[in-house]
Amino acid sequence: MEQTFIMIKPDGVQRGLVGEIIIRFEKKGFSLKGLKLMTVDRPFAEKHYEDLSSKPFFGSLIEYITSGPVVAMIWEGEGVVKTGRTIIGATNPAQSAPGTIRGDLAIVTGRNIIHGSDSVESAQKEIALWFPDGPINWQSSLHPWIYE
Ligand code: UDP
Ligand code: MG
Repeated sequence: MEQTFIMIKPDGVQRGLVGEIIIRFEKKGFSLKGLKLMTVDRPFAEKHYEDLSSKPFFGSLIEYITSGPVVAMIWEGEGVVKTGRTIIGATNPAQSAPGTIRGDLAIVTGRNIIHGSDSVESAQKEIALWFPDGPINWQSSLHPWIYE
């Protein structure tokens, strides 16, 4: 089953939005397969965002991600990478639809409270980086009520 990497960024943690964000993935029917509160150092943040290293905002992005604890998660379910991105909303919260996490809870791109993998391939890379011991193996007893 497909998995994605979701991270609540330092502003999401500081603003007390951890529960609000988790509940949206839980209520949808996705399964939590990994969860930890952690701080990351610069080299780790730079590795996570290595594809963006040439962007003008890279320095401020690394500053932002290392500014406080983040909540790292693995979520599992059919189509969870794409649907996760839909639940999160557009990168710029001003362009995120109401009902999405960024559309409802954030205002500017540089404080957009959450990260979600953008493809199955990057999800695998990000899960390996953030959860070197891999996901927790369990299956919800609600599975047959969520999938046909
Ligand atoms: N970002 C930024 N300024 C920009 C574009 C992106 O500060 O002009 C930050 C923002 O926090 C974003 C992150 O860099 O979430 C990663 O950018 P990406 O394009 O991968 O957006 P995402 O996948 O998070 O929607
Ligand atoms: Mg991205």
